Amino acid sequence: MFHETVTHAGGDTRGTASESHALMLMRRALNRGYAMEATPEGGAVIRWTRIDLTTRAHADRSILLVPELPVDGLDDSVRALLDLIDLGDATYDCHADRRVITAAGTEIPPGDTARLRARHLVRVDRHNRVRLTMSARLGLLAHGHRQAGGKTDGFAMCSCGLTTHAPDGQTADAKLRGHRQTMTARFIDSISATYAAALTASR
Ligand SMILES: [Zn+2]
Repeated sequence: MFHETVTHAGGDTRGTASESHALMLMRRALNRGYAMEATPEGGAVIRWTRIDLTTRAHADRSILLVPELPVDGLDDSVRALLDLIDLGDATYDCHADRRVITAAGTEIPPGDTARLRARHLVRVDRHNRVRLTMSARLGLLAHGHRQAGGKTDGFAMCSCGLTTHAPDGQTADAKLRGHRQTMTARFIDSISATYAAALTASR
């Protein structure tokens, strides 16, 4: 579940969005060509400008999605487990007092399994299938495209390895933001029908 803040002419409207509703908002943003960026806490911000056809006035609009439980602090070991689960066919198994996730032939220890669930990074459906939550996937995406290194030497660097020429700090910020928006749009476009159906089923 996400906290949703919509900024419009009358101010802000706050509400909540399920994972499937959040995906619908991001797919709609993608179709309309709105700027959209995953956040490290596992949410997203969507921005666009509304133009009044009569007055020609421009007005900034946005939708901010913040997960109920931020996913900050995805360290190497947690990311490795999430990558394993994201390969697909992960299951949640209960053997007496051992509750473990089995992913790609690997058994994730009970302590790690419990932590992944408590942090809302994974979700188990009624058939004991395990999937990553939208917030985990958005957090992983943001983590994979952080600003890396300094930006005073004429270049802006992303943690994914992308390097782009940027004569000043402002240009560096803008270029990296544009890159993260592209990666977020590609991520939303790549979401499978199976995953989308799983989000809808777990509402
Ligand atoms: Zn990147």
